Amino acid sequence: MARYTGPVCRMCRREGTKLFLKGERCTSGKCALDRRSTVPGQHGAANKKVREYGMQLREKQKTRRYYGVLERQFANYFEEADRQTGMTGENLLVLLERRLDNVVYRMGMAESRKEARQLVLHGHFTLNGKKVTIPSISVRVGDVITVKESSRDSAKIKGLMEGLASKLSPKWLEVDKENAVAKVVALPARDDIDFDFNEQLIVELYSK
Ligand code: SF4
Repeated sequence: MARYTGPVCRMCRREGTKLFLKGERCTSGKCALDRRSTVPGQHGAANKKVREYGMQLREKQKTRRYYGVLERQFANYFEEADRQTGMTGENLLVLLERRLDNVVYRMGMAESRKEARQLVLHGHFTLNGKKVTIPSISVRVGDVITVKESSRDSAKIKGLMEGLASKLSPKWLEVDKENAVAKVVALPARDDIDFDFNEQLIVELYSK
C-alpha cells in the first residue's frame, strides 16, 4: 500500500485523538482536531455504534499512523513482537519506539516523526559514525545518533539544533543538546511511551 499523502489532520479526526503529525501546529490553537472533532466524510457526524472489531481496527490504525508505518511494515513488526518473549503488545510498541526516525524525533531534532523521516531519508544523520538513510533502522543500546558534519551548516538543521535546548527527551536517550548527539542508554520500556495506546486490542485483532 502506498504512503498516504493527503491532509494528515484527517487522520487525527478519524482516530478521534491528536497524533501530533504536524509539529508546533498540534499544540497551537490551529489544531484541526481542536476546531472540528467529527470524523471526516459525509456521515462523519453520525453517532455510529463501534463494535469490538471496529475498536481493535481503530487502535491498530491509530498506532500505525502515530509512528508513520505502512500496513505491511506494521504487520511485520507484530510478527517480530510475537516471536519475542514477554508481552506481545508491549514488544510491538518498543519495536516501533526503537525506529531511527522516532529516535530523531524523540531526541528533539524534528518537529514531527514525518519530518524526522524526511531528515533521515535525506542523509542528515549518522548512526555510530556512519551516514544512514533508512528511517526504519532499529536502534540498540549503546548506539550513537548525531547530525552529519556536512549538514550542520544547513539553515534547517541549525534551527533545529538551536531549538534542542527547550526539548525534553526520554530517559532511555542521553542527549548532548549542544552538539546534537543522542546515545541510547537503555531500550525504551512501556512506561516510557507517553501516549494512550491500548496495545491489547491490536494483539486481539491480529490473533483472529
Ligand atoms: Fe493532528 Fe496535529 Fe493536525 Fe492537530 S494539528 S489534527 S494534532 S496533525
